[in-house]
Amino acid sequence: MSLFSKEKPAEQVFVKGKKLSCNICGHDKFIHREAQLNTKAFSMMNIDWANKSANCYVCDNCSNIQWFLDKQ
Ligand SMILES: [Zn+2]
Repeated sequence: MSLFSKEKPAEQVFVKGKKLSCNICGHDKFIHREAQLNTKAFSMMNIDWANKSANCYVCDNCSNIQWFLDKQ
């Protein structure tokens, strides 16, 4: 089973009003994933910001992953 199965179509992503492009291949379509960062290790170290979810955008061309931590 693939970690990133393609159930959603790749789409353009805007961050702070700017179009996201892959910093490896320059492609501009990504598959969105949410990653839960709430792990035992982070909890033990009492790192509050780590108990969040992160937005992951997987480049549809080269599979490079760009992470954005949800600060809310
Ligand atoms: Zn790429």
